[in-house]
Order: sequence, then C-alpha cells, then structure tokens
Amino acid sequence: MAYTYLAKLSPRQKMWFIVSVAAVLLISALGILNEPVGSTQAPNQFTVNMSIREIAPKLDVTGKGLARELALPLDTPKNKPLNELGISQEQLEHAAEHILSHRSTGLKYYIFVAIVLFGLVYLTRFGRPDNANISERKLWYPRIPYIACLLAAVMVCGFVLGKSPNPMEGTVKVFKSMVGLYPSIISKLLALVFFIVLAIIGNKLICGWACPFGALQELIYSLPILRKIKRWKAPFWLTNTIRGGLFLVMLLFLFGIVGGRKGFVIYHYLNPFNLFNLDFDHWLIAVIIVVSLTLAFFTYRPFCHLICPFGFVSWIAEQVSLTRVKVDHEKCTDCGLCIKACPTEAAKGRVLNKLFGADCFSCARCLNVCPQDAIRYDSVFSVKQIFLTLKR
Ligand code: SF4
Ligand code: SF4
Repeated sequence: MAYTYLAKLSPRQKMWFIVSVAAVLLISALGILNEPVGSTQAPNQFTVNMSIREIAPKLDVTGKGLARELALPLDTPKNKPLNELGISQEQLEHAAEHILSHRSTGLKYYIFVAIVLFGLVYLTRFGRPDNANISERKLWYPRIPYIACLLAAVMVCGFVLGKSPNPMEGTVKVFKSMVGLYPSIISKLLALVFFIVLAIIGNKLICGWACPFGALQELIYSLPILRKIKRWKAPFWLTNTIRGGLFLVMLLFLFGIVGGRKGFVIYHYLNPFNLFNLDFDHWLIAVIIVVSLTLAFFTYRPFCHLICPFGFVSWIAEQVSLTRVKVDHEKCTDCGLCIKACPTEAAKGRVLNKLFGADCFSCARCLNVCPQDAIRYDSVFSVKQIFLTLKR
C-alpha cells in the first residue's frame, strides 16, 4: 500500500516528501548541536542551613516560587535558614527535585517544530497525489507518516527528553510568573507564543501531531483492534465548558481570589506529563493519567478536551489558523461521511460553517472519505490569488 501511494505521487510531491524528511533531520540535528553540555544542579547540593534567597536563584525560581514548592506562605521571610522555618532536608530535596524536573530541554522545541512542519507539508502537499482519481481516495493520506510522528512525539518528546517543555506547562507558567513564582515573565511568554504559533500555522498541529500526551491518547484511540468498537463523541459544548471552567477556576485559585492561598496551582495535581518523568508527585496525578488513558479507548483525547489549559488556548488560536480543513460548499452534498469519520464534532462545524466549532486536531481522518472531493486541507489564503492580485 505504501508503495502504491508513493508511486502515485508526482515528481513535485516526491520532492516535497524528500525535502520535509531532510528538514526534520536537519532541524533535529541543529537542536542536538545547540543543546548545552555541562553539569546540572543536583537536589542534594542544597541544605536546610541555606535560606530561600540563597537557593531560589540556583533553581531559576523566585523566592515565592520556592516557598510555594515548600508549602510555605508566599510572604515567608526569604533570608532565614530553612531549618528555622521548620523545613526538613527531605522536604527541601523533594521540592528541589520537583523544580529541576521542570527544567526545559531546548532540543524539544526543535523537535516540536520539525514534527509540525512535517505534518503541515504532509497535509497540504503530499498527503494526496496530484490530480488524484477520486475512486482511489482511500489511498490518500496513509496513516504511516502520522503514526511515525506520534510515536516520535511519545518516545522522544516524552520518555527520552522528559516532561518539559510541553504546551500545558507553557500555558500555566505564564500565569505563575504573573504572581511572582518565576523570575522572568518574558521567557515564559515566549514559550507560550511558540506553542500558539505552531497551533496557528497548522490548525492545532502541535496538539494533533507533536504533543507527547496528546500523541499517546491518539495512539490508543487509533489501535486497529478498537476499530469495531462504537466510540462516544463527547458533545463539544459540554467538554469545552468543563475545560474553560477549569481554566477559570485555576486563575481564581492562582491569584488568591478563591481559597486564600495565592500561588496555588490546581493543574499541578492534574498534570499527566509527569508520566514521562515517572514522577507521580501526588496520587491525583496517577489517577488522571490512568483515567485519561483508559477513557482514550472509548472517546477521543479525553484529557485534551476536558482538562488541558493549552487545549483551551489552542482552540481559541485555531480560529485564526493559517491552514486547516476546508469544505467546498458548492460541491458538498451534506452526505455526512466526513462527520462520521471525524472523532470530534470538528468536521460537523466545518460542514455547517460554524464559527467556534469543536477542536480539529488535523488528524486527516476526514480527508479521504468524501465522494465529491469537497473536503481538503488547505491554506486559508490562496497564495496564487495573492500573487495575482499583487501583479495587477
Ligand atoms: S490539548 Fe492535548 S495535545 Fe494539546 S497540549 Fe494539551 S494534552 Fe497536549
Ligand atoms: S477528522 Fe475531524 S479532527 Fe480530524 S482533521 Fe478532519 S475535521 Fe479535523
């Protein structure tokens, strides 16, 4: 099947395929070369004779950030030795270990870019043969490149490189900086902008193709053995209300408007990315992971739809995505085949031309089912049209 598909690609598409694979290798190699080598901080280098003021800069957090990790009030005196504040060596090492586990590897940013660009080229350039015969549409958008990217996301961006950075954390850290838990808001803001840009250049491609926990849920949902099971398509109004509500609750707690403990982050207890560091800091994290992965057998990406703050942010961002699934309403006969193929209510939103429809994870399931060839993954602006307009 892979051979038949490759054989049908035009020379131009084969060139796109080779260039995108080469770009993935090149970007990854650049990331490896830019990765700093050298010593890393060890949690046991800090002692309780030291003060918050001495330790916090070495962990790249503010005094408030370290106080929060130690479950102390944010206004705790920062120059007192920790043993005078009742902190044991074990508590200190545990807090330091947790903060250090959030240390980002820059290499992962490169791999996220590589996967997203590959997905974008696949969806817009070589997923379907040029001048393809509609009767052969089942051959379009083969799953192998997608599955390969998902596996790379889980293994490399997940288990090999650890939980940080990830889009969920990228979102939460901006708000944590606002209450003084990190020294600089700019770097956190840039990280979030990075993820948002990737969600905009290809409709939520960072979630659909590169996020390690999203990819793990996608792989479970895609298991061939489950194809015959009838899955539940959760109503979008419900999942988005829960996800958005949780986001609001997070802000209320974090800013101390509710609960009276400024700096309290509810997502800390709901963060499934800890799986990739095998760090189950709190029993609730293990529960969230097990429940999300179990539900992923029966419904599409439950964590993304119900909990993830970046899922919510990227749903807003995808409203202005530059490339996306587009329906040609002149050709569409409302047969509903794409709606049936779509694991969310996104295709329905596209067919009905809804503003603020459900999240589309650019999974390509809807792109090879339309008997009218009315659905495509394309850029919002026609580059050719812009070129012609400029020429006039
Ligand atoms: S919505 Fe899903 S895929 Fe996107 S960042 Fe969150 S966990 Fe990852
Ligand atoms: S099947 Fe649904 S989620 Fe997947 S690309 Fe199509 S519209 Fe988006």
